[in-house]
Amino acid sequence: MSSFPFILQVNKGHCQLELKYTGQSLEFDIPDAEESKQSASCLPCGPTPSGLRSIKTVEILNITIEQEHSLIISACTSRHGPKKEAGLELFEFQIKDRALATEWQFNVLVHVYKGLKRGRHFKVLVNPFGGQGHAKRIWEHTAEPLFKAAACTYDLTYTTHRYHAKEIAKDLDIKAYDAIVSVSGDGVLHEVINGLMERPDAIVAHKLPLGAIPGGSGNALSFSLLGEDHGSHVGNAVLGIIKGRAMPVDLCSVTQGDNRFFSFVLQSFGLIADVDLGSEHLRWMGEARFTVSALSKLMSQVTYPCELAYIPEETSIEKIRTQYNERRRQPVVWADQTHDELDGNHPTIVDRYGRVTDPIKESDGWIVEKDHFATVVGAKLPWISKGSVSHPAAQPNDGLVDLLVFPKGLGRVAGLKIMVGVETGEHVYNEKVRYMKVKAFRVTPQERTGYVSMDGEHTPYVPYQVEAHRELISVLSIEGRYARSMKE
Ligand code: ADP
Ligand code: MG
Repeated sequence: MSSFPFILQVNKGHCQLELKYTGQSLEFDIPDAEESKQSASCLPCGPTPSGLRSIKTVEILNITIEQEHSLIISACTSRHGPKKEAGLELFEFQIKDRALATEWQFNVLVHVYKGLKRGRHFKVLVNPFGGQGHAKRIWEHTAEPLFKAAACTYDLTYTTHRYHAKEIAKDLDIKAYDAIVSVSGDGVLHEVINGLMERPDAIVAHKLPLGAIPGGSGNALSFSLLGEDHGSHVGNAVLGIIKGRAMPVDLCSVTQGDNRFFSFVLQSFGLIADVDLGSEHLRWMGEARFTVSALSKLMSQVTYPCELAYIPEETSIEKIRTQYNERRRQPVVWADQTHDELDGNHPTIVDRYGRVTDPIKESDGWIVEKDHFATVVGAKLPWISKGSVSHPAAQPNDGLVDLLVFPKGLGRVAGLKIMVGVETGEHVYNEKVRYMKVKAFRVTPQERTGYVSMDGEHTPYVPYQVEAHRELISVLSIEGRYARSMKE
């Protein structure tokens, strides 16, 4: 069985049928009045209808032979439509010749997992407090059955307090795992990354891939990987963790006072920080809390005095868009094909543009503006939550931070237009909005109180400086890039 298609004759009830694996998909014709075996814990779905089925290679999780003559195919399929959540489907057939079936099973699985490890082992962190408190249910009902079906194994911890995820990442036996997976929002991954980066062996630890299962209210990474339609779909996220490869992703260092930490989503000041952190009391609303809170903040037209300094790389939105499209045409590069900033010669990450407490070096090309702003937000991800493509040109690994600035005096009408634009990322073309690619930026608040949010986590309202470092972490992804967030 050396060339496609790989064919196996099987029975289903009294009917004979052919399982045909083409290299791209597994095809078979379910006879009338037959029902495939359904998983008790799969997504709500009825019996598999009769007719031709085609399961894509990427959707196949496992093939097992049980009780001598049962062949079971486990898949994570989007059988209810391309915009619907992918879910577990099990198909059971009876084999005629065990030796032939075993050979077919072996050959198909080798191809299905080409370049990937089969049966990965994960450290899973579930935050029962994240979002509306559904993470435990998400894990038990959807994620865990998929991992089990794919013969993946895991050590599971329910986080019990803030920084628990960070403590775990700091002490984790990283060699024992293929990835760390969080079932929460971005906050848990923020802690994991910081835990890994604080380790004495960060030079090795930062390479451990991360997986995101959306279970919080701000699932920026899931939306950026899977797009608007699938960002909150647990089944699609789990499939990416089982079948994805490590995609290299930039990480921002942040200095604040004497502290230094890392941020992978966004660093916000002004309106968006208020929305992020000032809406905790609306947590029961889920993702809608951000929209409701943003509307009320916009209507109040508050602005925030600060000194903003940045080192621009590109400030023309048209050029940024062209570069975005050019980059998307280039082939995907995986983490094992790249070379990051950390190696034996450079075991620590050096901030090229200094710390927030250092004087600004003019020769680095800083631009300084002292003004009132509605918001100043740096980001490395295009989506910040469902329906919010705040930084549509953000790239996983261009080594730059995307900086979004809403000036003072937007007015309610323009403010509303901009907010509608954020739903699709079109706000960046609004004449009042500034959007640029920067190497670093610094925000110095001029008032005593307010919010600064780093990846949705509360940080002190004191000056901070952000700088992007290329490809310091990696994230499991099937596509190897973020979902398209900017129109061509
Ligand atoms: P969300 O998107 O809902 O904000 P996050 O993943 O960002 O979800 O997590 C929110 C916060 O919950 C993080 O600061 C995390 O440290 C904290 N946390 C984790 N476990 C618990 C727990 N058991 N109780 C309270 N907070 C927790
Ligand atoms: Mg959060």
